[in-house]
Amino acid sequence: MASLTQAKRLVVKIGSALLVDKATGALRSAWLHGLAEDVAWLKAQGTQVVLVSSGSIALGRGALKLPESDLALEQSQAAAAVGQIRLARAYEEALAPHGIITAQVLMTLEDTSDRRRYLNSRATFEQLLSLGAVAIVNENDTVATDEIRFGDNDRLAAQIAATIGADQLVLLSDVDGFYTANPQDDATATRYACIEHITADIEAMAGDAGSGLSKGGMKTKIMAAKAATAAGCAMVICEGSGMRPLSALENGANCTWFTATLDPQTARKRWIANMKPKGGVTLDTGAVRALLDGKSLLPAGVKSTIGAFERGDPVAINDPDGHQLGLGLIRYTAQETRTIQGHQSHEILDLLGYSGRAALIHRDDMAL
Ligand code: GLU
Repeated sequence: MASLTQAKRLVVKIGSALLVDKATGALRSAWLHGLAEDVAWLKAQGTQVVLVSSGSIALGRGALKLPESDLALEQSQAAAAVGQIRLARAYEEALAPHGIITAQVLMTLEDTSDRRRYLNSRATFEQLLSLGAVAIVNENDTVATDEIRFGDNDRLAAQIAATIGADQLVLLSDVDGFYTANPQDDATATRYACIEHITADIEAMAGDAGSGLSKGGMKTKIMAAKAATAAGCAMVICEGSGMRPLSALENGANCTWFTATLDPQTARKRWIANMKPKGGVTLDTGAVRALLDGKSLLPAGVKSTIGAFERGDPVAINDPDGHQLGLGLIRYTAQETRTIQGHQSHEILDLLGYSGRAALIHRDDMAL
């Protein structure tokens, strides 16, 4: 079975019930320090780590003395606003003794579904990871209203994993895996050790029970598994309340793995290759050679621009004879591309009035 130390890029989702004591509403700080030790251990092995943590509403609710359940949307948003600073500070205090810099990233559904914002958040995560920081991600609950929110951090974590090209996603939960039936009502229920294909039967087995503090039940975990594995990221569900939950998982604790058949890079290239282009760019021969050598496309290599497209749209990449070499997600609009095509990247500021990204299409964003 997969080992966490094999992961190059690991996303760990932490549910509210693990971080916040249900009875008192207080942070489980000894547990958090154990988790920080696990993160330090994984980083020392060369694994990049991103944490998706719930708990802002649970922490804020305690502080504001709001009732335990049935909060109105604006009450949860107020609780999140109060709880989120406590949450981020708690992580920072737990990780700092290990020499780890903590970052806070608050996301909305649009940040992963709108392609332009998706590319921006991807670039930011890339930068944070290359600088060795650990991002603590949560939904931006104070601005997300019901129709436009993830609502649960299982799916948010899967979207983050897909966005950053993680190869493993751990859901630390209050259940130790995925069962044939709800083990609380059915004594014959058995846990799957590994699920290779999420069939309709598996989906039908996922009940919908949450645990009071956390939002996601098994149904959202299966949705998360589908999104993660389609993006080439293996996912594991395990019980996380013990003191060093990631070490415990590595040492063989109960869990259910969902395997991915593709690696994240291949999955991402296929995803791009299947898009319908909104326009195109025609390159000179030097740029074609550079692309085939694995380089990004710079404005200097573009001879002409076809059609109307927005930032983040898929465009066809054509050779000088007009044959399509592949597709890529472009970082400028068609109008901007026409203005900067044939020019050096350092001229972008003068030509457009602002300095955008040096590459028109980044090499990770193209499928040739
Ligand atoms: N974003 C919510 C919070 O931090 C949690 C959502 C969830 O439990 O999945 O409180």
